[in-house]
Amino acid sequence: MKKYMPPVVMLAVFEAIAVTLWLTKGNIFYLINFSYIGCSIALGIFLFIRRHRHARRVVQLLVGLYMLIYLGLIHGENMQIEGFWYYLFTGVFEAATIHYAVAKIFGPLLFGRGWCGYACWTAMVLDFLPYKTPSSPRKKLGWIRYITFAASLVFVAALFLARVGNLERVMFWAFVVGNVVYYAVGIALAYAFQDNRAFCKYICPVAVFLKPMSYYALARIKCDKDKCISCGKCRRVCPMDVDVTDNSRKRENGTECILCMECVRNCPRDAL
Ligand code: SF4
Ligand code: SF4
Ligand code: SF4
Repeated sequence: MKKYMPPVVMLAVFEAIAVTLWLTKGNIFYLINFSYIGCSIALGIFLFIRRHRHARRVVQLLVGLYMLIYLGLIHGENMQIEGFWYYLFTGVFEAATIHYAVAKIFGPLLFGRGWCGYACWTAMVLDFLPYKTPSSPRKKLGWIRYITFAASLVFVAALFLARVGNLERVMFWAFVVGNVVYYAVGIALAYAFQDNRAFCKYICPVAVFLKPMSYYALARIKCDKDKCISCGKCRRVCPMDVDVTDNSRKRENGTECILCMECVRNCPRDAL
């Protein structure tokens, strides 16, 4: 039974968040929302332990579709980075701000970039494309993400400064258009670079939050040096070019790890 502790712990963490927010905000939505996400992630970890091939994809679809379709399109919450700035400027600590705080700012201290591997609705689609492992070395284009990060902030600030009316509606359409643009750019880049995760590596503004916080992540893949035979397979199957055989926090592309477990599944020596 010990091997099933990780999903139980993950579920407990999300239930703690769900109950805390439900009681402090007096809104049962938070209980249902975080319980659903916690159950989805716990199910994925359980399936992974049972060596189910599509464990991660199951979670991606359960959480990604819920956020994109239900929270974004039906509920009208802009859960993209523009929505975060918008709610931050209005001083409202609601869905998008809480989502960012839990999944992308403080959560990564615990579970690194698990968001990117298991919940992001952009990557949910990109991961269906044919280039699961990059066919060429990483390009030095990561600086683009700082431009898109600044652009998202300037866009929302400009809406406030220009006193644009009906901002709720504007933010809803910003969410729709933003997602269409993300998918179009993400798919084009994946084909251009033959790398499904090119958008994540070079363009995504959210990584500006995720990378520094995940540097200190509690949940990390570690390598048992006594078992490792330096075959290099983990590196070859890694979609994010992480040198997972280096246990230091300064490992190459360490803050890019999305905890997809491809390296663990493919290691011939069970060294990870
Ligand atoms: S880097 Fe951005 S697009 Fe990629 S999975 Fe993470 S949040 Fe999603
Ligand atoms: S796949 Fe396993 S054995 Fe091979 S280099 Fe990576 S950790 Fe070492
Ligand atoms: S293959 Fe391993 S090192 Fe690479 S992103 Fe996935 S979990 Fe992280």
